[in-house]
Amino acid sequence: MSPVPGVTEESSEQQIAARRINSVLVADDDPLFCRLLESWLRKWNYRVTTPEDGLKAWNVLQHNDDAPQLLVLDWLMPAINGRELCQRIRSRKQLRYPYIVLLTAKDDKQDLVTALESGADDYLTKPFDMREVQARLRVGKRILTLQEELIKAREELRFEAMHDRLTELWNHGAILDFLHRELERTRRTREPLGILMLDIDHFKAVNDTHGHLVGDEVLKQVAGRLFRSARVYDWVGRYGGEEFLSIVSACSTENLRKHAERIRAGIAEEPISTSAGEVKVTVSIGATGALFDPDCDQQTLLQYADSALYRAKKRGRNCVELV
Ligand code: GH3
Ligand code: MG
Ligand code: MG
Repeated sequence: MSPVPGVTEESSEQQIAARRINSVLVADDDPLFCRLLESWLRKWNYRVTTPEDGLKAWNVLQHNDDAPQLLVLDWLMPAINGRELCQRIRSRKQLRYPYIVLLTAKDDKQDLVTALESGADDYLTKPFDMREVQARLRVGKRILTLQEELIKAREELRFEAMHDRLTELWNHGAILDFLHRELERTRRTREPLGILMLDIDHFKAVNDTHGHLVGDEVLKQVAGRLFRSARVYDWVGRYGGEEFLSIVSACSTENLRKHAERIRAGIAEEPISTSAGEVKVTVSIGATGALFDPDCDQQTLLQYADSALYRAKKRGRNCVELV
């Protein structure tokens, strides 16, 4: 279903991202070395996880969505060594790319080449200088920060591509995609599928009387009421201008009518408070398609809803018609 119009979860997402970037997983089977590195990392304000070997590290990464993104892996470990762990991590399909530093006592060039080719981003040769460790982890953090920014930008683009900017409901294209998917699904499940086409009555008069900006406020609030009146598995979108489309799944004809009637009454009975004072609006609703019909395609369903809406307008508006 659509996100709640006007509600943003950005801050908590940013906090989670910051925590991921500031967490380091250290996998090394040498407990003394592990404790030493852990104490330094904590001093540099990292959160630290220290699975004792490669297998435990793999389990942490596999089963924890919020696993650290900075990984410091020892080259030589029992069960799964650092190199194999690198290969496993890189062969997973994952949203985020972890930054891997391999720890090695080897200084043979060929080993370093092997480490990098296994998927490591960097390596540190033991024994090492703590300032170097700190600097190299900062490099990893910079890359992970860039990655988070890219993911965030992509999510925003995705949101914009699918949502109506004014009301934050699904936009025309997205709601039609969901309708297509719901029709495909109900062809398999044989569940009834209903749609409601809603249009604000005499909306032009709202704009003419109070101005376009107040018209926008009314649109937003009507959208909010539609969103709140929907069930969690329904879809609500802005079909265009002052028209909305709601997809109501698994609902009998009688319940579809009752649902539409509740929406209509919820808008008609409570005036909308705007910066220009209270504005009364009503909606006309065309409802259709509650019974399962394998031959009914998307276009036909929309045409039925449209003609039901037309009938509601003709009947005097502020009412529900069912075709
Ligand atoms: P009816 O009861 O027959 O639906 O009458 P109506 O006035 O609502 O319908 P009409 O199609 O004549 O006018 C729709 C108006 O909606 C005209 C258009 O300017 C306005 N509108 C469409 N999109 C927006 C918008 O995003 N913001 C505002 N403020 N107005 C919009
Ligand atoms: Mg209208
Ligand atoms: Mg209209």
